[in-house]
Amino acid sequence: MIIVLFGPPGSGKGSQAQLLVSKYNFFNISTGDLLREQMSLKTHLGEQIKNVLEEGALVSDDIISTLCFEKILNNDKRNLILDGFPRTLGQAVKINQFLAKNNLKIDLVLYFDVDLVKLEQRIVGRFSCSKCGEVYHDSFKTPHKKGVCDICGNLTFIKRSDDNLDVLKNRISTYLRETYTLKEYYEGQNILTTIDASCDMNLVNENIINCLNQAGFKK
Ligand code: AMP
Repeated sequence: MIIVLFGPPGSGKGSQAQLLVSKYNFFNISTGDLLREQMSLKTHLGEQIKNVLEEGALVSDDIISTLCFEKILNNDKRNLILDGFPRTLGQAVKINQFLAKNNLKIDLVLYFDVDLVKLEQRIVGRFSCSKCGEVYHDSFKTPHKKGVCDICGNLTFIKRSDDNLDVLKNRISTYLRETYTLKEYYEGQNILTTIDASCDMNLVNENIINCLNQAGFKK
């Protein structure tokens, strides 16, 4: 099964992807993580895209599609999550063509519906483990033991450089301009389900599992 998670920045796609990976053995491709990896490795591509991410704009369809498709081909798990891809109509068309060539298709698109005014609080309090990348939040999800990562025991945490108010404004306007249109596109294909992403993350997760089961998901 291939599912796409789409919604505004801070709507909880990454946290839900982590939950699905830990509970159901999904393989998750987060295009934001792929780009941040390139930046931290200081590759040529990483240097090229640094400014784009820091401004809250989008990397070109060609670059991001190449990175994403390479990952899909290297994955041998049956169930795949695409977190943050596609983010433009151009990317949506490219992935349809790519999957069709490989006898695959997107089974379900989950649209994370959340009031845009809530995003500020979610994004600004967000931080993650510098080692394993587990994501936390000052108010909604602190580590069980203060200062210690629940997953790997690491003691250092980092904040994304684009998780601040100025960049958030750009990320939201980029989302509304380039990405929101995918809702209509996937509705037209009858594969879109809207998830109320403003409630507690465990409840959101339950709703997602129900949707997956209805769509014929098998562990
Ligand atoms: P995310 O971690 O999903 O919030 O993504 C962080 C940043 O990476 C975005 O603000 C974009 O600059 C870039 N990015 C991630 N996914 C894509 C994509 N599918 N297309 C273009 N840029 C992307």
